[in-house]
Amino acid sequence: MYQWILVAAMSNPWAQQVTPSHGSAEAIGGYAAGCLQGAVALPENGTGYQILRPRQKRFYSHPVMEQYVLDLARQSKKVGLPDILVGDMAMAKGGPFSTGHRSHQSGLDTDIWFRFAGKPLSAAARNNIKAQEMVDFRRNRVNKNFSSQQMTLLKLAAQDPRVERIFVNPPIKKAMCEQFAASGPSWLGKLRPWFGHSAHFHVRLHCPVGSRDCEPQKPFPPGDGCGAELDSWLTKPARVSSKPVPNRMPQLPERCELLLSGKQR
Ligand SMILES: [Zn+2]
Repeated sequence: MYQWILVAAMSNPWAQQVTPSHGSAEAIGGYAAGCLQGAVALPENGTGYQILRPRQKRFYSHPVMEQYVLDLARQSKKVGLPDILVGDMAMAKGGPFSTGHRSHQSGLDTDIWFRFAGKPLSAAARNNIKAQEMVDFRRNRVNKNFSSQQMTLLKLAAQDPRVERIFVNPPIKKAMCEQFAASGPSWLGKLRPWFGHSAHFHVRLHCPVGSRDCEPQKPFPPGDGCGAELDSWLTKPARVSSKPVPNRMPQLPERCELLLSGKQR
């Protein structure tokens, strides 16, 4: 059955939502086919973080994610890291972006850049700042931008029990395995090799308590993921085109249609 239709930028109703819905906070549906009731906006100003591309207004999330980001930023500052740069979270009612990532739909996904901000940046600067590449794709290994600061941030990010998984480019996972596998930390397995994610990492949280229609993702295999699975990713660079392509509209849960029309209960 033909379930997919192209989401033209102008016709994606989710991208036109400017205020969160009423109702208690709930992540509805899947990470890549869902929506978000009762979203909260990450405060413009806070300790240890700055919001990227504020013009795009993709700084909404489930409150559990908001708290996670606030906590990560505070912890990072405490260990002496510069401000973290928070990228795409979700739109005001979640749902599919018109271009770019497929997920980030239910308020439980957030991109955080590997690049830090050494000083407070103006909104204009944050709308235009360039990402910093951490991978040398010719050699398929991390480059010199990937230092102990990035490792510390990733470790802090993955240690948190609210985190379900974190996507990183394969050479980044490899570098983390070389640094930490000997100590066998349980969080290392949460770092999942994937395409792209060489200038930012993507944090995904577990379905929160109270989100009865949140669909969990199939668990990843047990272990630290530093062996054969990672090696299979390292046979060739896992780069993705940086050209934005229009997304396809996924089949969303019925509750999302109600949310969009303002008729949710
Ligand atoms: Zn992402």
